[in-house]
Amino acid sequence: VVDFGVKKMEGEAVMRSNQTLICAPIMADSVDQMLILMQKAKSSGADLVEVRLDNLKSFNPRPDIDTLIRQSPLPTLFTYRPTWEGGQYAGDEMSRLDALRLAMELGADHIDVELKAIDEFNNVLRGNKSTKCKLIVSSHNYDSTPSAEDLGNLVAKIQASGADIVKFATTAQDITDVARVFQITVHSQVSGVPIIAMVMGEKGLMSRILCPKFGGYLTFGTLEVGKVSAPGQPTIENLLNLYNFRQLGPDTRIFGIIGKPVSHSKSPLLYNEAFRSVGFNGVYLHLLVDDVANFFQTYASLDFAGFSCTIPHKEAALDCCDEVDPTAKSIGAVNCIVRRPDGKLFGCNTDYVGAISAIEEALQGSQLSVSGSPLAGKLFVVIGAGGAGKALAYGAKEKGARVVIANRTYERARELADVVGAQALSLDELSNFHPENDMILANTTSIGMQPKVDDTPISKEALRYYSLVFDAVYTPKITRLLREAQENGAKVVTGVEMFIGQAYEQYERFTGLPAPKELFKNIMATY
Ligand code: NAP
Repeated sequence: VVDFGVKKMEGEAVMRSNQTLICAPIMADSVDQMLILMQKAKSSGADLVEVRLDNLKSFNPRPDIDTLIRQSPLPTLFTYRPTWEGGQYAGDEMSRLDALRLAMELGADHIDVELKAIDEFNNVLRGNKSTKCKLIVSSHNYDSTPSAEDLGNLVAKIQASGADIVKFATTAQDITDVARVFQITVHSQVSGVPIIAMVMGEKGLMSRILCPKFGGYLTFGTLEVGKVSAPGQPTIENLLNLYNFRQLGPDTRIFGIIGKPVSHSKSPLLYNEAFRSVGFNGVYLHLLVDDVANFFQTYASLDFAGFSCTIPHKEAALDCCDEVDPTAKSIGAVNCIVRRPDGKLFGCNTDYVGAISAIEEALQGSQLSVSGSPLAGKLFVVIGAGGAGKALAYGAKEKGARVVIANRTYERARELADVVGAQALSLDELSNFHPENDMILANTTSIGMQPKVDDTPISKEALRYYSLVFDAVYTPKITRLLREAQENGAKVVTGVEMFIGQAYEQYERFTGLPAPKELFKNIMATY
């Protein structure tokens, strides 16, 4: 997951809406380095530190643990993970368990003992359990997430072992695995035993961010991107400032972008910041989804309130909706799905509104009183016949433009042209296509996108016939196509404007509130 590096405003007061703690794993070769990382954890906003003793290159239990406890600026959790449970420690079991016992004796706030070792640890303790130190009994599954029944049995076994806090971590093979873990977390609230329940991997990210909503005891947040103690951990920075972790609670509504891949998407940045700015009780996540139908079947509660949808799910998502807006139906793709109060899913397509309104705005310029769309009667050439191409072609046609579709695969251009009522061209024919001046061009292919920034779908010479050029590509913001169009004196509309435009519309549908347009523009201007 990308660290967006959102900065908290100086002096910004953060009110807590939940009790869930943020724990920073401390992994370093030496005690001195660990102490530095502990200070960093405190200034990053963590609530406690997990000292990973198995990472130390040389370890002298009594003085080292004593120093770590006495000098830690935050409450501590001591873990000494053996290789057989995914850790680094490969020595003898007695010394390992004795070090954990010592941590308890010397004043650690928590220690973590593996379920597989708990009987032996209880023997080592001989009933001398400290009342100050909370015993976490843990189980890790690095392959999969078992059934709800098996997880329930696992939790019961951990509780019966004398744990003060239950911990289990499983691996997400699919995002729907997380649902079973939420179910167990919620159920544990009823039994009164605190629980740490995590699903590892990118598909399990939701489990790490939403634990305050479902009542988890803690989540792990890293100090730096990629410096994880288990796969899929977010940074403390992202937990606090991207996902508004402290404000999450039982009533927080969940939104997100469904895609594959999806971690690069900037949508969470826009929506979460906007939610925060108006105090809207929602959180917006990256949702790495393999099978969109399975996703909607699993997450069918009102808590899962709205979704943006991107490549490759826009077509499949349409079939999952109970009702689809007529334009989205004609386009054959939805990029926005809202759950209604009765639980039904409503799908629409805001891609077309975003792009078309940005183009209209640019055409209108400073002219105030134009009746009807400035696109009416214009010759509008769309390059590409995929999801974005369809949206642009439908949108332009609806506004009264004469539409031409040019695509690498001519048959797809022909197919779309027949449905929309347009002319079809092959991409090769585009250079010699200039029946008139003052045309509008919209690139909806990925040509010119990073890293191939020197590519362009049309020569600068052929661009002379266009007075406005739009590019759906938004990395980079000014593509070679747009730069050459500007050099020819044409107006340009960027993919960033389309992105912002489609996001306004989605935000309003998600929240029922007007989109904070200036905020969206400011956020996108910095990326
Ligand atoms: P898509 O459904 O996969 O369609 C891709 C289209 O691009 C097809 O027409 C394909 O032609 C054409 N194409 C791909 N590579 C090409 C190449 N090397 N040469 C010529 N044609 C090529 O994808 P999409 O959802 O429409 O997305 C297309 C682009 O729009 C992406 O870059 C995406 O990031 C961007 N987009 C931006 C926004 C925004 O908010 N700014 C929103 C949506 C999409 P064939 O039919 O011949 O394969």
